[in-house]
Amino acid sequence: MPELPEVETVMRGLSAVLIGSSFTSVQLRRKDLRFPLPKNMDALLRGHKIISLTRRAKYILINFANDQSLIVHLGMSGRMVIDDGSSKVQKHDHVIFITNKGDDRRPASLRERSPHGINAASEQKSLHIKFNDPRRFGMMDMVATAKTSNHKLLKHLGPEPLDASFTGEALFAKLKTKKVAIKLAIMDQRVVVGIGNIYACEALYAAGTHPQRPANKVTLKECTALVAAIKAVLKRAIAKGGSSLRDYVQADGELGYFQHEFAVYGRAGEKCKHCSHKNITIQRITQGGRSTFFCPIKQK
Ligand SMILES: [Zn+2]
Repeated sequence: MPELPEVETVMRGLSAVLIGSSFTSVQLRRKDLRFPLPKNMDALLRGHKIISLTRRAKYILINFANDQSLIVHLGMSGRMVIDDGSSKVQKHDHVIFITNKGDDRRPASLRERSPHGINAASEQKSLHIKFNDPRRFGMMDMVATAKTSNHKLLKHLGPEPLDASFTGEALFAKLKTKKVAIKLAIMDQRVVVGIGNIYACEALYAAGTHPQRPANKVTLKECTALVAAIKAVLKRAIAKGGSSLRDYVQADGELGYFQHEFAVYGRAGEKCKHCSHKNITIQRITQGGRSTFFCPIKQK
């Protein structure tokens, strides 16, 4: 499932090819994803210049010159695939956006792969951006740009983890009334947005906090360390996404999914990288129906 760093990378990748363009056509290949797709989406979006893309939690906002925004959530399995329209439409390509411009920014490695060579690729007249989502937990909706933060899915969201306002003090204040385990608390979107299972495990490990600690028993000092760890693991993942995807577009045109090296996630039974000399292995438990990976020595 895409987490915040993946969504950020997809947003940056789409920004690189969409800003300044408009859609000449938006093809809805079904009426709904998780929710019904907006009626007249094609008519509402067609011909309006895209001025910016932003991210709020795991929602991507595509902002148009007519003060309308398209909200996109990738759900569990949603992907954005960019090509020049020459590849076959796949079974789970549910929405296809066609732009009025090609992409002269595409990586040289991609252009070289084109059977027609560099010139043909740079003469592309449009891009096809395909939203592919086999499980259909993704969603799209339209909102007036000025009212974005009042949208029903966005208005209850907590702070962005990378914002300066997300501090140890702010987290400590939010956790005071929460008796749930700290891991579940930092995955609660009202406490802080965008931290899914993977980065919750990684941040708690980096901070040395046991995932089962009651949230209201985590001290201010520990909250400060945890906030620093959350910011660090997310920033590292975003940086890795950017560097591993030259210009954010992979050779197959897919955006934003990349292999990370995790310290604990998915490493049950393997040696802890921190305490390896003591022959300690990473443990796996279940919390809130999800696997938690942690080191029983480093995390207290
Ligand atoms: Zn350890």
